[in-house]
Amino acid sequence: MGSNRDVIIIGGGVIGLACAHYLIDSGVGVRVLDRGKVGEGSSHGNCGLLYFSDVMPLCSPGVVTKELSRTLKGVSPLYIKPELDIAKYLWLLKFAMKCNSSHRNQAAKDKYEFLMYSMELFKSLFASSSLPCDFENIGVLTVFKEEKNFKASAGTQEFLASFGLQGEKITKERLVEMEPALLDDLAGAWLNKADWHLRPELLMKAWHKLLEDKGVIFHEDCAVLDLSIKNSSIDQVHTSQESFQATDVILAAGAWTPKITEKLGLNLPVLPGKGYSITMGRPEICPTYSCVLYEKNMVMTPWKSAYRLGGTMEFSGYSSSLDRKRIDKLISGARTYLKHPTGQPLIEEWTSLRPMTYDDMPVIDRAGHLKNLIIATGHGMLGLTLAPGTGKMVCDMVLGHPAEIDINPYSLKRFK
Ligand SMILES: Cc1cc2nc3c(=O)[nH]c(=O)nc-3n(C[C@H](O)[C@H](O)[C@H](O)COP(=O)(O)OP(=O)(O)OC[C@H]3O[C@@H](n4cnc5c(N)ncnc54)[C@H](O)[C@@H]3O)c2cc1C
Repeated sequence: MGSNRDVIIIGGGVIGLACAHYLIDSGVGVRVLDRGKVGEGSSHGNCGLLYFSDVMPLCSPGVVTKELSRTLKGVSPLYIKPELDIAKYLWLLKFAMKCNSSHRNQAAKDKYEFLMYSMELFKSLFASSSLPCDFENIGVLTVFKEEKNFKASAGTQEFLASFGLQGEKITKERLVEMEPALLDDLAGAWLNKADWHLRPELLMKAWHKLLEDKGVIFHEDCAVLDLSIKNSSIDQVHTSQESFQATDVILAAGAWTPKITEKLGLNLPVLPGKGYSITMGRPEICPTYSCVLYEKNMVMTPWKSAYRLGGTMEFSGYSSSLDRKRIDKLISGARTYLKHPTGQPLIEEWTSLRPMTYDDMPVIDRAGHLKNLIIATGHGMLGLTLAPGTGKMVCDMVLGHPAEIDINPYSLKRFK
């Protein structure tokens, strides 16, 4: 194809790899820099849902009251570390202000378009490339313990129905037959066939290899320390190894992106939202479906090769320490729904940081005053799901092609 452009991508997570994929296929030279190993950030041990039905933003009406009440009862999956951090409290305040139906309705419309775009791109990606990753497209179950919650969930399903994304209602009797790994005393579930699942660390490994074979150059253990500017453009990217130059720079460093943008005087309200997972061998009776365990706000994902419990949302800064209580909570949460909540052997206990924006919408935009810098982050709980859509949008921006979907909702202007 050929192109006179070459690109540096900062961050070898799923967003960085998706950008690399569409760019190298368009004939652009691509170099990916990661301060650690490729695919070992948030994209490694997440729950692996391709959650295409998740149009509802996190900031929706009633969320603040619900989480406050759960916090007071000590059963919330959310933890906000009390600390003197004004930016964090401002972010939380803005999040609370977005919890209204007008934001929910607009965000859902925009997310729907983005999710469907990504779904189609995933289909072409899997059809054209060999990416072994325990992929399954049988749907995802949202499972309810409490009758009152199951009844109330009909409202959410009605909302999803306006997008053609409503789940199939599964009564408690049918649930027992359909998924014998679940306990017999659950209230019921919704099966959403639009949702898929895969094992993210396998996807990352296979995609990394595929891109290397296509000619993408990877530099691992190569931390970006600074960026120098000339003529309103990024001139050099200075790393712990050497300095690099390219026609375009893409900043896809996940939750750590604001640490780089602050060096450029750019305010990016992305907060690290810490999550946990535990990966084990398949339990004695292993579920067939991936399940969202509603009351515990957590996910259980079974694969041919393993089994994972994941969730929690901690706003406690950039600490990467693993809090044992959180892992134990995942196991006790799973015990409420599953006959065999754990399997053997223990493969990995893991924590990482999601890049969270207060309106729960990603940031995919050119960085205003810097002509050759594109930011691609803020994917929150949906980075894996939205990766191909993001990669294609970024590629079109670099090439100067018109975007295939409306990109205004992901603009930096909304933070002004
Ligand atoms: C527990 C949990 C469960 C989740 N479940 C799901 C799910 O089921 N489905 C879904 O769609 N999403 C899920 N997510 C969200 C998803 O994992 C993230 O949105 C996604 O991985 C973000 O990808 P990324 O490429 O932006 O960031 P990352 O994967 O974190 O990659 C960023 C990369 O940038 C590198 N980096 C940082 N700073 C620098 C620097 N200065 N120089 C060079 N490199 C740097 C890091 O080393 C890292 O490799 C989950 C997240 C968590 C924590």
